[in-house]
Amino acid sequence: MVHYKSATEIEAIRRSCLLVCDTLALVASELKAGVTGLALDALAEANIRSAGAVPGFLGYGGFPNTLCISRNACVVHGIPDAEPFVEGDIVSIDCGVKMDGFFGDAAYTFAIGEIEEATMALLYHTKQSLHLAIEQARVGNRMGDVGAAVQEYCEKEHGYGVVRELVGHGIGAELHERPEVPNYGKRGRGPKLKKGLVIAIEPMVNLGTRSVVQMPDGWTILTKDRKPSAHYEHSVAVVGPEADVLSDHGRIEEAIKKNPSLSEISIKK
Ligand code: MG
Ligand code: MG
Repeated sequence: MVHYKSATEIEAIRRSCLLVCDTLALVASELKAGVTGLALDALAEANIRSAGAVPGFLGYGGFPNTLCISRNACVVHGIPDAEPFVEGDIVSIDCGVKMDGFFGDAAYTFAIGEIEEATMALLYHTKQSLHLAIEQARVGNRMGDVGAAVQEYCEKEHGYGVVRELVGHGIGAELHERPEVPNYGKRGRGPKLKKGLVIAIEPMVNLGTRSVVQMPDGWTILTKDRKPSAHYEHSVAVVGPEADVLSDHGRIEEAIKKNPSLSEISIKK
């Protein structure tokens, strides 16, 4: 069953989402070539705990860390490791927290130094597709409208592969609640979006094939062709004609601007 949230509950989810984004901003301020995923993970965990919250992913289904850190051909669910990042890497960092009984969830894909133009375009358009999906998250629309926004833009307009095996989700007192939020679908189909629905929308988009494979660690998801993959996520509340975006990528992007080792996500028009 779907849990529709009260205004008070939505504010609690927002506070958790903002802690997630402050944590991702802190991580972004330290991200550069030579740094390891494990170092970022420790930083994130300390930041979350110092705010009186707990990491949302640590121990979830047995996941060993606070952050999912997914480099280059890794789509999602990468386990932080001791291998230093290098110039030209793209790094998707996904973070969840639980505070005062409610979860927050957001993700961002970063570019370390100069990255290939086609890869930067993938990041830019994946982020765009998230915003197009959020525009569809309004009362009276259907879930298919949200997924179709991502699929049409990424597949038809840009020829990318939209991952099918992993989807967004409801969020609240649980990290993953019903309903599923696919990044594909048909307009006008699927469950109706009602006031109080809170969902994490998270396009996972591949430069090449949409096919993915899972590594023997039981977590790491890679693109089948080992081409790069991007992942951007916002948690949003369906409240009326326009979604209320509870997470804030702006905080992360401020940190990117101040970090000379990271490139902003943009393309030449
Ligand atoms: Mg996430
Ligand atoms: Mg999520």
